[in-house]
Amino acid sequence: METDADVIIAGAGPAGTLAAYELATHGHSVLILEKAAFPRYKVCGAGLTHKIIREIPFDISPILETEINQVIFTKGFKDQFARTSSGALLYCTNRDILDDYLLAKAVEAGARVIHGEKVTEVSQEKGFVKVITRSGTYRSSLLIGADGASSSVARSAGLREHIMPGLAWEAEIKVDEASLARYSGTVFLDWGSFPGGYGWVFPKKDHLSIGVGGPATLSKWMMPYYDKLVNYLEKDCGIRVTETSSLKSWPIPVRVKRSRFHNGRVLVAGDAGGLTDPLTGEGIYYAVRSGKIAAECCHNYLVSKSPSLAPYSDMVNRELMPELLEANRIKFLFNTVPLRIHLFVRDSERAWRAFGKILRGERWYKDVPAGFGYWKLLWGAACLVSKCISDFRERKFKREGFDG
Ligand SMILES: Cc1cc2nc3c(=O)[nH]c(=O)nc-3n(C[C@H](O)[C@H](O)[C@H](O)COP(=O)(O)OP(=O)(O)OC[C@H]3O[C@@H](n4cnc5c(N)ncnc54)[C@H](O)[C@@H]3O)c2cc1C
Repeated sequence: METDADVIIAGAGPAGTLAAYELATHGHSVLILEKAAFPRYKVCGAGLTHKIIREIPFDISPILETEINQVIFTKGFKDQFARTSSGALLYCTNRDILDDYLLAKAVEAGARVIHGEKVTEVSQEKGFVKVITRSGTYRSSLLIGADGASSSVARSAGLREHIMPGLAWEAEIKVDEASLARYSGTVFLDWGSFPGGYGWVFPKKDHLSIGVGGPATLSKWMMPYYDKLVNYLEKDCGIRVTETSSLKSWPIPVRVKRSRFHNGRVLVAGDAGGLTDPLTGEGIYYAVRSGKIAAECCHNYLVSKSPSLAPYSDMVNRELMPELLEANRIKFLFNTVPLRIHLFVRDSERAWRAFGKILRGERWYKDVPAGFGYWKLLWGAACLVSKCISDFRERKFKREGFDG
């Protein structure tokens, strides 16, 4: 059977483009089917941590807009404090620019791309995958579903189990020069207002990205939370908003159990696989990393080093899932004692250093329990109890919202 490519990739976000870059570099024929015309807007803070930058195999410094070395924290818009780092904690950019850059690198490496081609259905035949789009049918030996949070590939291939839906609202705001200068290099975080979620300000070169996120079960309280954030920024922080654009909501899918990430000749990466951090919503690292693991497993299959794509599920479950599961446990603890954790980050050098190390990818969530020394024996028990309290608080908040 003649195919259109060794590997078809649905979606040209970070997961798809990194998989395409790696596979094309190994000499495989790669076809990316992308529903949008690039460059396209994507709802995202586009905060890039060091671990993302380290994982990308080429220089992305030309598209980094701002370097962040300060975080301003509030707990429920109270008890504000700032923490500063001597080196960069993270960098900010815009997703239209980042994704266009990553796609150009994949194309330079030899991948082909068709824009405006939305994948709607996938079926597996003997020896190949049939990929159906709005305008035609394509065939390939393997298919990577990197088509984001509402992945058609994951749905079609039955790979959506154990995904807990999260939701975020974000807008791009233009502000006066003085506010832009004040927030250049500074991220603002409000936590503890919203069970399982937080509000943020990420500075870009000529505007601020502001948003709120949390569990989708609390979606009706998300806009009131967004309004509170804007109100706080204007009234208490003196930010003068001159224009608001692109106020949009977007799902954040979170995998909460080890699962299968492949089915026959199809695998899912990035948001399509539910690979986002339940604590912070960070997903670009997991998209890039899973895209690269996907490429490695497809390569091994295509050169007959591996009889199936099963190693992909194994590697994701072994390398990425422990991080997401530990982040989920920390989230429960945070929901239970938000003020204590807020004050701990304010008062303890050790806590602030640990926060920075996790952002920089020098430490991982799975190292956190070990940091408690002898107390780590209690960690599991504390997480279990805090899950019950956290679930109770979430249900109460769902009923009563900010008035409760
Ligand atoms: C408000 C918000 C803020 C965030 N902030 C951050 C942050 O600061 N840092 C961070 O690390 N993460 C952040 N994230 C998470 C991050 O945006 C995602 O985890 C990341 O984009 C996942 O990359 P991806 O390649 O898997 O999917 P996407 O980036 O969503 O890319 C999927 C691509 O597939 C295309 N597509 C979709 N459906 C189809 C289809 N059927 N056929 C063909 N193409 C299709 C889309 O057009 C898109 O180009 C944020 C998320 C939200 C919602």
